[in-house]
Amino acid sequence: MASYRICLLPGDGIGPEIIAEGVKVLDAVGAKHGVSFSYDEALIGGAAIDACATALPEATLATAKGADAVLLAAVGGPKWDTTDPAKPRPEQGLLGIRKELGLYTNLRPVQIFPALAEASTLKPEVVDGVDMMIVRELTGGLYFGERARFYDEPGCGSQGTPGQRAYDTLEYREYEIERIARQAFEAARKRKKKVTSVDKANVLETSRLWREVVHRVHEQEYVDIELEDLLVDNAAMQLINRPADFDVVVTENMFGDILSDEAAQITGSLGMLASASLGDGAALYEPSHGSAPDIAGAGVANPLAQILSVEMMLRYSFNLTAAADDVRRAVTAVLDEGWRTSDIKDAGTAADRVVGTAAMGDLVVAHL
Ligand code: NAD
Repeated sequence: MASYRICLLPGDGIGPEIIAEGVKVLDAVGAKHGVSFSYDEALIGGAAIDACATALPEATLATAKGADAVLLAAVGGPKWDTTDPAKPRPEQGLLGIRKELGLYTNLRPVQIFPALAEASTLKPEVVDGVDMMIVRELTGGLYFGERARFYDEPGCGSQGTPGQRAYDTLEYREYEIERIARQAFEAARKRKKKVTSVDKANVLETSRLWREVVHRVHEQEYVDIELEDLLVDNAAMQLINRPADFDVVVTENMFGDILSDEAAQITGSLGMLASASLGDGAALYEPSHGSAPDIAGAGVANPLAQILSVEMMLRYSFNLTAAADDVRRAVTAVLDEGWRTSDIKDAGTAADRVVGTAAMGDLVVAHL
């Protein structure tokens, strides 16, 4: 029997509640497909700050590096909010683990579940058929460049005006762009064979290099894929204007951060969106939403994004396509039957079909 070791990182807020449902589904789908999973739980984010004064303890990193895949829930919460750069912050755990595991690609599928089409704030005819994959570069660019803050004394700084000054650095190397471009073209080959590369080549030098390298990789290795360029400001508009036209969208770290949240909103249900971060070793799977501290501990969080991140893990880390398809079918069936958590219920939802976190997990398991 095939067996896989999974590092579990529940994190903060609703994290522990939703990851339990992910594990439930993994165990059930594993039993059905003759695969066994073992779990090692570790601390990250605020929980790790409380226990070890750092958002990413060495022990967590070692556990993650020794695993076949990592399942993360979410980190953060008001308890750890701070603007003091000397204090640890939960998101350092996330940024750190992505960097340490070499997870340079973030995949965010954006699909409309027909039962939830009404949840979108866009018109049904605009969202009909939306099925795109945002491929975001994850370990380079502005979020990892050199940064600093100064105080300019009178007589120094801009026009001699005293005050604070800060800078961040946006840098990309050719190999970083090449490898993310390949991930995007490979993803497109398994989909509708179209890549939209988003940059700001009319202004930024990094974007000009980005465009040059993406086109070179395309011409040399992927002429079977259609490639288009879009400036990021235009992309922000087109994503909500004609979302069904996109297949794979590839972009750098910060643009991807913003556009993937915008694209997520097209579905209207944050609690439904999973993501995968891939590199050359163990990959990491997590929901796209945060730790929802406002509902933590209430047992009402939607576990479906976490469960769909399990689906991605089965597909991308373990190549268990049939098992992954089963999870997606089960989730679709549960929604088609009208079951909802409170975040995705609408005016037409029957009161007795609104369930909590654990009951939603049980329903998915029952449909496997
Ligand atoms: P959030 O995604 O946590 O919550 C936004 C809203 O959506 C809230 O009303 C929340 O209750 C709701 N929501 C989110 N997930 C839900 C779910 N599964 N089921 C039902 N409702 C859900 O974003 P936020 O409020 O901006 O951030 C809260 C904390 O999470 C902050 O500390 C932030 O830094 C952190 N955060 C973490 C991640 C991550 O771990 N990847 C991502 C974004 C934000």
